[in-house]
Amino acid sequence: MSADLHLHTTASDGQINPEETVKIAYKRGLKTISITDHDTIAGVNKAFEASRLYGINLISGIEINTDYKAAEVHVLGYFINQEDPDLLALINKIKVSRIERAKKMLIKINDLTGKNLKFKELNKMVRGKVITRAHLARFLVKNNIVIDEQLAFSNYIGTSAPAYVKRDYITTPDAIDVIKQAGGIPVLAHPGRTEYINFDLSDLLNFNFQGIEVYYPHHTQKQTKKFLRIALENDLYVTAGSDNHGPGKGYKNMIGEVRLPRRFLNRLLQVHRP
Ligand code: AMP
Ligand code: MN
Ligand code: MN
Ligand code: MN
Repeated sequence: MSADLHLHTTASDGQINPEETVKIAYKRGLKTISITDHDTIAGVNKAFEASRLYGINLISGIEINTDYKAAEVHVLGYFINQEDPDLLALINKIKVSRIERAKKMLIKINDLTGKNLKFKELNKMVRGKVITRAHLARFLVKNNIVIDEQLAFSNYIGTSAPAYVKRDYITTPDAIDVIKQAGGIPVLAHPGRTEYINFDLSDLLNFNFQGIEVYYPHHTQKQTKKFLRIALENDLYVTAGSDNHGPGKGYKNMIGEVRLPRRFLNRLLQVHRP
């Protein structure tokens, strides 16, 4: 009984594909995992067959970046019904708005450089996935606009660079509602990360979160203790996740580096048998 409930794959910005993620989880002795790609469930759908092959309990998951008081709050959703129409509509809305945003950034880049980079070419590279600035950076390198991706961010698409366009966020309560509607459990992701320091955690708990990601690689012992106390006091589920994006591109392979204590996993699985 060992679980890592926060994993990215090539369906979003992870380095390894969903099938390989399941295989590594198996090799590392995990029994339960959740694939939680940004704004997509494509990876979960791809991993189900492998999860049966390796006898891994795969919980369908997602991570949605939301907007709250000028900060970014990440909402994890577990046990979501992958066919829920409202959830699929939200995912599609995010995908489409990211396409529009990438087009706007590309126009700015063309204006700045005098080039004529085509969205069609960028889209080919993305191959149906959700377009992020990471793709755009790679595209700029490929087209010799800059020699590396870092330069793409500092000179063009970084938050204070001239071709940056803010993405359309959805609000935290909206994401929570959609996850609940889709039969899922909304969980506050990595509360210890810096994006949350602008406001009090108790503010967030006024939303209908049902769990907190207490165990997380960057959480200090002190933070872990605090979040555990808050979760227990508020009768919320306790979750754990490595937030693996690697191995590769400067990321370590973190699969299974953070594991959920059995009593908390049991609680989660009791109510929601997949
Ligand atoms: P987006 O969600 O489209 O704004 O893109 C965010 C992604 O861009 C992140 O997940 C990173 O992969 C990448 N990214 C953002 N800022 C930087 C940066 N300064 N250097 C390298 N990659 C970055
Ligand atoms: Mn990511
Ligand atoms: Mn996150
Ligand atoms: Mn994540």
